[in-house]
Amino acid sequence: MDISSENKMVREMARDFARGEVAPIAEKMDEEAKLDADLIPKMAELGFWGIPWPEEYGGAGMDVMSYIIAVEELSRADGSTGITLAAHTSLGTYPIFAFGTEEQKQKYMPPLCKGEHLGAMGLTEPDAGSDAGGTKTIAVDDGDSWILNGTKTFITNSEHAGTFVIAAVTDTEARPKTRGISAFIIERDDKGFSIGKHENKMGLRGSSTTELIMEDCRLPKDRLLGELNKGFTVFMKTLDGGRISIGALALGVGQGAFDEALKYSQEREQFDQAICNFQGVQWMLADSATKLEASRHLVYHAARRYTRGDDYSREAAFAKYFAAVTCREVCNDAVQIHGGYGYIKEFPVERMYRDAKLMEIGEGTNEIHKLVIARSLIRNGYPAHDFE
Ligand SMILES: Cc1cc2nc3c(=O)[nH]c(=O)nc-3n(C[C@H](O)[C@H](O)[C@H](O)COP(=O)(O)OP(=O)(O)OC[C@H]3O[C@@H](n4cnc5c(N)ncnc54)[C@H](O)[C@@H]3O)c2cc1C
Repeated sequence: MDISSENKMVREMARDFARGEVAPIAEKMDEEAKLDADLIPKMAELGFWGIPWPEEYGGAGMDVMSYIIAVEELSRADGSTGITLAAHTSLGTYPIFAFGTEEQKQKYMPPLCKGEHLGAMGLTEPDAGSDAGGTKTIAVDDGDSWILNGTKTFITNSEHAGTFVIAAVTDTEARPKTRGISAFIIERDDKGFSIGKHENKMGLRGSSTTELIMEDCRLPKDRLLGELNKGFTVFMKTLDGGRISIGALALGVGQGAFDEALKYSQEREQFDQAICNFQGVQWMLADSATKLEASRHLVYHAARRYTRGDDYSREAAFAKYFAAVTCREVCNDAVQIHGGYGYIKEFPVERMYRDAKLMEIGEGTNEIHKLVIARSLIRNGYPAHDFE
């Protein structure tokens, strides 16, 4: 596939790191249900945490394709490490880069890009998931500060994050309700802010997912991110880009499971021959590789549109939706090809199968992606852009 020499260099670097440093500890992180904190400084040394951001803010100044490829390669070894990088970059850092004032960017981007701490984004609440317009966290104007109260749920990276981009209602009368939401930056040590329950998850157990609690959390006025009451746009734009990175995460996890399945099918013998000789197994391999190849084209296509500055909202939804379904199907076939061994924790496909399910839920469920795609079809027709 047509990628730049810089993209190829990042792929080699990320692949080596994933094989050498991540794959050997993936099972342990899954079992202990926590990210190995040593990965953060190790990844910082190689510049992982700031790949697509300008050097003036501490980033590596590379394109989004390099970042997407890095997420793919890390996820091929371990989905938890992949989602940690994806949530940090696309959810925790992007909104500050895209909507922050110059002062906010100067203050918050360098430590994020250097991996001094991670970034996180808190949109989801116990009663507001797909319907983010139902946000209940409230921010009240108190003269020289904002006072926030509310709870966020399922927030990735919380345990290691230093900054959190949070959605809160600033105009309770606004209709539709999405016009009364604003974005805020919370720092980990802000008074009234705390990390709540750590979720005991099915998969991606090596990534941190917690509640966030704001109890009379007082923020200086300059923590408003973007314009007052325009926060919904901040979050929707952020999710558009985030979808490309979850597409890359799904692609990587699926590719990792396929790698294992192909290898196993050549080694495992039944009826006096390798099981890859059986047509039933070959069909699973062929279907998996075909769908992974299609996912890669969709994910890279969306990343290219993003890099060029073209509209990428629908392409990101295509990519995330297709790659997520593919990831679950490919992981299912990988377990099937392993037979009983695929059900045993010693074999990585068991973990990958559990990790895969999140792809169809996080950053918009499959059903919400179909809504996003269908609305765009009705509004813009198809194809909306000349295909390149
Ligand atoms: C591991 C993990 C990490 C996450 N990380 C983050 C994070 O970092 N930050 C963050 O803000 N959130 C995060 N989330 C939250 C995630 O984005 C939400 O779980 C997701 O958006 C779905 O919301 P929900 O769980 O409330 O499900 P609901 O919205 O309650 O959906 C339940 C079901 O109803 C369906 N449904 C809902 N509305 C419609 C509709 N209009 N049409 C058709 N079907 C519909 C859904 O598709 C789904 O099948 C994370 C979640 C998980 C599990």
